[in-house]
Amino acid sequence: MSQTPNHSARQMPATAAAPDSSGTTPAAGSNFIRNLIEADLAAGKHAHRRWSGHPGPAEQQLRGALDPARIRTRFPPEPNGYLHFGHAKSICLNFGLAQDYGGRCHLRFDDTNPEKEEQEYVDSIIDAVRWLGFSWDAAIADGGSERENNLYFASDYFDWMIRFAEYLIGSGHAYVDSQSAEEMRARRGTLTEAGRDSPFRNRSIAENFDLFQRMQNGEFPDGAHVLRAKIDMASPNINLRDPAIYRIRHASHHNTGDRWCVYPMYTYAHPIEDALENISHSICTLEFADQRPFYDWLLERLAEGGLLQRPLPQQIEFSRLNLTYIVLSKRKLIQLVDEGHVDGWDDPRLPTLVGARRRGYPAAGFRLFAERVGVSRSESLIDYALLEDCMRETLNDSAERRVAVLDPLKLIIDNYPAGQSEDCLAPNHPLKPELGKRALPFGRELWIEREDFMAQPSKGYHRLYPGSAARLRYGYVVKCTGYDRDADGQVCAVHAEYFPDSKSGTPGADTYKVKGNLHWLSVASACRAEVRLYDRLFAVPSPGASRPGETEGSERDFRDDINPASRRMIQAWLEPALANVAAEESFQFERHGYFVADRVDSRPGAPVFNRTVTLRDSWSGKPTPPR
Ligand code: ATP
Ligand code: MG
Repeated sequence: MSQTPNHSARQMPATAAAPDSSGTTPAAGSNFIRNLIEADLAAGKHAHRRWSGHPGPAEQQLRGALDPARIRTRFPPEPNGYLHFGHAKSICLNFGLAQDYGGRCHLRFDDTNPEKEEQEYVDSIIDAVRWLGFSWDAAIADGGSERENNLYFASDYFDWMIRFAEYLIGSGHAYVDSQSAEEMRARRGTLTEAGRDSPFRNRSIAENFDLFQRMQNGEFPDGAHVLRAKIDMASPNINLRDPAIYRIRHASHHNTGDRWCVYPMYTYAHPIEDALENISHSICTLEFADQRPFYDWLLERLAEGGLLQRPLPQQIEFSRLNLTYIVLSKRKLIQLVDEGHVDGWDDPRLPTLVGARRRGYPAAGFRLFAERVGVSRSESLIDYALLEDCMRETLNDSAERRVAVLDPLKLIIDNYPAGQSEDCLAPNHPLKPELGKRALPFGRELWIEREDFMAQPSKGYHRLYPGSAARLRYGYVVKCTGYDRDADGQVCAVHAEYFPDSKSGTPGADTYKVKGNLHWLSVASACRAEVRLYDRLFAVPSPGASRPGETEGSERDFRDDINPASRRMIQAWLEPALANVAAEESFQFERHGYFVADRVDSRPGAPVFNRTVTLRDSWSGKPTPPR
């Protein structure tokens, strides 16, 4: 230990049930996991660790050498689905800690279950982690040309897992059980009642070896035997009542094909994966807290046998991310996709990372969000508005400004010569003058927003109505002189006169004092585009939860809470500079919000835009403030 160790922080993970006072009000950049890592670094806990010689690609160079990483963390997804916002938190945490402390973060596919895993998910997870801005590929030493490529598959360790299982058998710590699943369940006991030993628990070591070998040879059908750790059937922690560590599955695996017909259980495989990769801090969500005693038991046995080096990896739990207005359960997400409530896994309304990317949520917004929500051990539900604020804040800085008219109404400037046109200059980014200005063509006929005109103005309305004056942003002040109605009585055009000496940027501009400030586009140069107005997928904060007046605790169907207005497709007018944008470029459409050129459907010359987020939160119960 160092001179001034932080005892309270170090002890926290060892007391799973104890409330965490330090983690409940997370401050940006500081959390209980950081305290723990800093204490470990100060104590030099991992400083003398040698590379274990695990089966990764860097094995040859590194076997036996001092591990160059100060800490090692990992993100260990199972490739059985698309990543969601909760995973983003875990990715930012694990990769972020490695970056901050001179460490490495491994991307490891926890692919020990042959039935549910697919290459498609492997590829999409790799893409998502890269997109979030992280890398598992790091220079081994500063200035050196050798690199560590820390991309791993748990299934590459199957030989090691077998070897370790054989060690456990040989040392009397594991046995082959031949009870049926029902018999095993019946003897497991309950939370209040001890379990009972299996009749096969005292098989000889030789018989266990023989049976385990024959399990691997494919001599038995699925379920005929399992290999179990021999710990304590009376343990108060059910996870220590001789947990299964290997089972028979005659199934093809996406990576190892038909080579194996026995597969390790997740709880056995995971600690071994961590240890083989020299992981120092194995960070996971709270539901694994009850598994920690087994994690430690297993690694201790293997270290005792000289199969693993010390210090062993330490499991540290934090509470998973929960957000209002969405669902993160894999089962529910699959239902939304399979039943067609959304258009596939990358639907911009889904909380998947492929969906977020298509929606235009910037990766930097997720990193900011992860920092803001912090890390704690107490369950919490984060307001979706916080995520949206992080996206707005990031985009406010990065996105250039453009003009779009989403609900067009024609404005005719009767005293402006027909056929004439002139440029008005609009800044690309009000906070970054270095990004320059662009030309917006002005002319006699313009598009304005329908809501920027009222035939009979309500009180406090400062935009256009007969007799009023307003500024056409970056252009002239105009005075409304009248309007036309079509056969149905709908307003179809507004008439106005402009003041030639009022142009923005000229000395005369300041002599006009008007309250309304409208955006506009010239009819002659605007381009037509499909715009998709996305909003929250669910209309209530906790989809599926009972509402006031309903029986407490009665689960409703979460699908009944889908927001029917979560997507509206419109045809809009865009300024000419938007006609040829590249897919995935983001802009602020002035007064409307942030929009991104759809990465699937948008083409230069035929843009399609998705609304990422509005400029202000309209969900917080307050009316949208007047503009
Ligand atoms: P499954 O039910 O299939 O296990 P999962 O969402 O836990 O689903 P994994 O692939 O096991 O998916 O998750 C990879 C990592 O992401 C794990 O370390 C897990 O703890 C973390 N993770 C998953 N969901 C969340 C969440 N909501 N908040 C924070 N971390 C999460
Ligand atoms: Mg999981």
